[in-house]
Amino acid sequence: MTFSLHGQAVSGGIAIGRAHLVSHAALEVAHYQLRERDVAAELTRFDKAVATAGAELDALRSEASVPGAPAELSAFVDVHAMILADPTLTDGVRDLIRERRCNAEWAMVQQMQLVVDQFDEFEDAYLRERKQDIVQVVERVLRVLQGKVRKFTRRKTTAEDDLIVVANDLSPADTIQFKNLKIGGFVTDLGGSTSHTAIVARSLAIPAVVGMQHARPLIQDDDLLIIDGTRGALIVDPDIGVLQEYRLRKAERELDRSKLKRLIGSRSQTLDGEDVELHANIELPQDTDRAREVGADGVGLFRTEFLFMNRDELPDEDEQFEAYRAVIKAMAGKPVTIRTLDIGADKEARALRKRAGNRVSPNPALGLRAIRFCLAEPQLFLVQLRAILRASHYGKVRLLIPMLAHSVEIEQTLSLIELARLQLCDAKQKMSRVEVGGMIEIPAAALALGPFLRKLDFLSIGTNDLIQYTLAIDRTDDAVAHLYDPLHPAVLKLMAQTIQSAQRALMPVAVCGEMAGDPKLTKLLLGMGLRQFSMHPAQILEVKQQVMKSDAAQLAQRVAKLLRFDEPDKIAEQLDKL
Ligand code: PEP
Ligand code: MG
Repeated sequence: MTFSLHGQAVSGGIAIGRAHLVSHAALEVAHYQLRERDVAAELTRFDKAVATAGAELDALRSEASVPGAPAELSAFVDVHAMILADPTLTDGVRDLIRERRCNAEWAMVQQMQLVVDQFDEFEDAYLRERKQDIVQVVERVLRVLQGKVRKFTRRKTTAEDDLIVVANDLSPADTIQFKNLKIGGFVTDLGGSTSHTAIVARSLAIPAVVGMQHARPLIQDDDLLIIDGTRGALIVDPDIGVLQEYRLRKAERELDRSKLKRLIGSRSQTLDGEDVELHANIELPQDTDRAREVGADGVGLFRTEFLFMNRDELPDEDEQFEAYRAVIKAMAGKPVTIRTLDIGADKEARALRKRAGNRVSPNPALGLRAIRFCLAEPQLFLVQLRAILRASHYGKVRLLIPMLAHSVEIEQTLSLIELARLQLCDAKQKMSRVEVGGMIEIPAAALALGPFLRKLDFLSIGTNDLIQYTLAIDRTDDAVAHLYDPLHPAVLKLMAQTIQSAQRALMPVAVCGEMAGDPKLTKLLLGMGLRQFSMHPAQILEVKQQVMKSDAAQLAQRVAKLLRFDEPDKIAEQLDKL
């Protein structure tokens, strides 16, 4: 039966493919009493189902070992295999079948509940979340018991060959793994539009819709799905007419995007001759391929925290150095802005959490995040700083510090950079001069810009957090996602003020939040005076097209007028006129 669901459109495009469910199955199972003589057969049926689920995991493990697939993926399969092999789960089920003479499905769900309840007792949020792994393992066995064996083989390539991940929620650490797998798109029931999960989707250039509320329970594995990532819609089991319509739209979109490629070599300049730099945001060194393909002017934001995710041990100085050097070399002389570790809030790294004694922050977005964490852990920060400084020998490196609010944080950071430099000098390591910049993503920083202008070399406005903290909207929370408004007059004022103050002080200023990659906002930002944008490589050509159609002087006047309004509909009206 065809039906459609709607959520937050977070990454455009169309995917047509089969559902791949990755969390909570409907654990509604029948409960019936067995005759004494049927108990042995039920035990055998259960054992066989466990064996089949184990074989499925083995098959999945080889599926996950495609070249370049991260080791964490097979580690994930290993965790599931371990849970399946653990007698806590399976022995309990066998006891229940024997003692209560109940069917295996019901016994399985009861036992799962018992184990999961124990996980709920953990204070630690990360460990609490691991109960999802148990639920997924139970789902797998239930599918087998109910005769729905999942085959992990790819179908022949057809228009419907996209693999569409359907999940209750995905963490940024989950999503980053999609970079090595061929995922056509994903939908989640939770999540907000600038959560890092959504950001990774845009970086992968795959359609994604979050905050769908009910997709996970309503969709079955292998259902035919269409994601309309631009409209935030998901169509389940479409009829042939709808399917054809979407195939056509998908082909048209692909054609439009390939036409944009003609802009690759052209100069990013407005009609009145203003040059505009378009840099790339990257999460992993391999993303430089896409950045180069579209002719990015450099890397404007390397979110280094992704190097720290999905692993038990922290990357040491040499490993980090190699990763930074790989990016610098790939960018062949173009500037590379390396942001220091911005861990915390929705970006979790278990190795760092372990180190922090698994402390749970009562409000992670306002807690020991980013530079606050690094200044609290100077030894760990110094490792990263030394790695970046060593890599600076191989090209033009700029160091970017996230989440600064206080003048003293700038000073402490600069002292640590100096210390790292001295340590490297002592060790006779080569390095080059590195500019140091600050992210403007806390309203306090935008409102009290003086120390930033005096002590740093450049600024980069992180609109994702600037919006979150100005409007007091958790950017990952779908319940308040409708209030997350980039065009709120307070946000626009903070941005415009920052850009103007930086320009008056002759300090380079960029925007590297998601607003920079939204072609609908290009003219607004140009009108504010912005000349440096940083965004996912997939957005660069569309934004360039907008730049090339713009008259910067004219936009400056119109945007000045727009900024005088404080009613959203008036702002929207003025924006349309741009
Ligand atoms: C931002 O906050 O706008 C930003 C670029 O940083 P992140 O999205 O990684 O928090
Ligand atoms: Mg940020």
